[in-house]
Amino acid sequence: MRDDASELIPFQGQQPWGMKPDMVLNDIMTGDPRLWVPLSEHSWSRPLHLNVTAGFYVHILKVTKAGLIQRHRHSGAVHAYTLKGRWHYLEHDWVAEAGGYVFEPPGETHTLVVPEGCDEMMTLFFVHGSLMFVDPKGQTTGYDDVFTRIDKYRAHFEAVGLGGDHVKHFMR
Ligand code: FE
Repeated sequence: MRDDASELIPFQGQQPWGMKPDMVLNDIMTGDPRLWVPLSEHSWSRPLHLNVTAGFYVHILKVTKAGLIQRHRHSGAVHAYTLKGRWHYLEHDWVAEAGGYVFEPPGETHTLVVPEGCDEMMTLFFVHGSLMFVDPKGQTTGYDDVFTRIDKYRAHFEAVGLGGDHVKHFMR
């Protein structure tokens, strides 16, 4: 850290041609409640970054009831930061707690559960690639990726009066 005021000079050059604009969301928890997109009766997804070039998406999952959320296999890596409450996978004996970080390796199949006694869980997930939804034997029953997410968010934003193109705010 430098405290010499003469060093406080912004970059004088040009940013590269083709660079995507940056994105700053300062109102994630306090902003328009219509940005929380229902996934089921007790779960919502708040999109933060939908990246169609690198094939990843970042969102906050909110769950307000204990129970099984879904069983899925990952094609890419996932980073998770738990903001509130706790959750775990049936395949592991650890519990993700508020303030904690979890890395999910590509290739893993697991079953997300919010335990009894937790009536609000919020976790920021950074998801590369796709989730394949599977039955307990591993048979695929569906999938999710940045494109299926965009479809879901677009339909919801349209339905609540924001307009489907609102999803573009989160796309890079
Ligand atoms: Fe997962």
